[in-house]
Amino acid sequence: MPGIYIHIPYCHKACHYCNFHFSTNLKTINSTVEAICHEAGLVASEFSQVHFVTLYIGGGTPSLLHPGQLKKILHSVRENFRLTSQETTLEANPEDLLPEKLEEWLGLGIDRLSIGIQTFDEQFLRQFNRNHTSQQAFDALKQARRAGFLKYNVDLIFGFPGQSMDQWLSDLHRAIDLQPQHLSVYSLTREEGTAFDYMVRRRMIQEADEGLMAEMFFAARELLTSTGYQQYEISNYALPGYHALHNSNYWKGEPYIGLGPSAHSYTGTHRRWNISNNALYEKSLANGEKWYEEELLTPEIHFNELVITGIRTIWGIDMDRCLNLLRDEQKDQWLKKVDQLIEKNQLKKEKNHIILHPDYLFISDRIAIELMV
Ligand code: SF4
Repeated sequence: MPGIYIHIPYCHKACHYCNFHFSTNLKTINSTVEAICHEAGLVASEFSQVHFVTLYIGGGTPSLLHPGQLKKILHSVRENFRLTSQETTLEANPEDLLPEKLEEWLGLGIDRLSIGIQTFDEQFLRQFNRNHTSQQAFDALKQARRAGFLKYNVDLIFGFPGQSMDQWLSDLHRAIDLQPQHLSVYSLTREEGTAFDYMVRRRMIQEADEGLMAEMFFAARELLTSTGYQQYEISNYALPGYHALHNSNYWKGEPYIGLGPSAHSYTGTHRRWNISNNALYEKSLANGEKWYEEELLTPEIHFNELVITGIRTIWGIDMDRCLNLLRDEQKDQWLKKVDQLIEKNQLKKEKNHIILHPDYLFISDRIAIELMV
């Protein structure tokens, strides 16, 4: 089920832990919007035979766009691609969820919001330079429901420096009380070059230790699954019927195209990534120059990507699809490794899929490395 991703590279403020591509100089939004529409027109012919079914507008903070800018992008995408959207998601930050905006988004066909709350704790919000207050987070979800959104995701982060288990459980309870159909729960990771990284290296703050992170991960799983949410990916929980279609397609290795600075595309044979610089991206498009780099996926790269994404989900790794990518001499070796991990109860086999035992989800990356070629 192919999808379209659009990257809006602008934010009100830079959160201290974030290494996504974004700019806080909002003066150039209009020209970036124009460039994204231009890119849609240029790549459309490559994908004229593809029927897209999901649209995801992420970033950055796409909710800061004026409805007119959003309308322009959506119009261009719908005009250039065969899109019968089963899910149109907008990433939104709480401070942007105002009644008039919500109404306009619904009018533009957006039927799912992914709301970056991260924490309800005022101290951590301030410490990590978030642009909203705890009260705005509560209000945002209430407004979304009142406006008529039937599907919304809440993003939460655990493992803030000094965060106790009680504080984390309190965040989870507050989120659950607001009845989102979907929750994404991420551990705070220290990305190189971020303010958080700088503060840790200068010993201004201390990262949470791995043991506590693991306890927080499992506490979230216990609480959310006992409240009716299904953990269908390492960091993602949904009420029955509310899995995120667009992101599930990534994890299932389905193709997608990405538009906008830094956006990635995957065609099934190639991976492409756009320039991560707004001005250069715009200039390249305007001058008729290449605005992306591209690599042909070797069978090994393709195989490893299927392993690393599949292992994170309840659907697991499609063995037939993986084995088709291996040379004969690699196949036996790989199957032997799979059997060893099944014997250790780290993996189980269901039909032609191998699925990670939920107790090992927290170390899924380590097990994925064992399964890579
Ligand atoms: S709002 Fe999101 S994308 Fe922007 S800096 Fe914060 S975490 Fe990063």
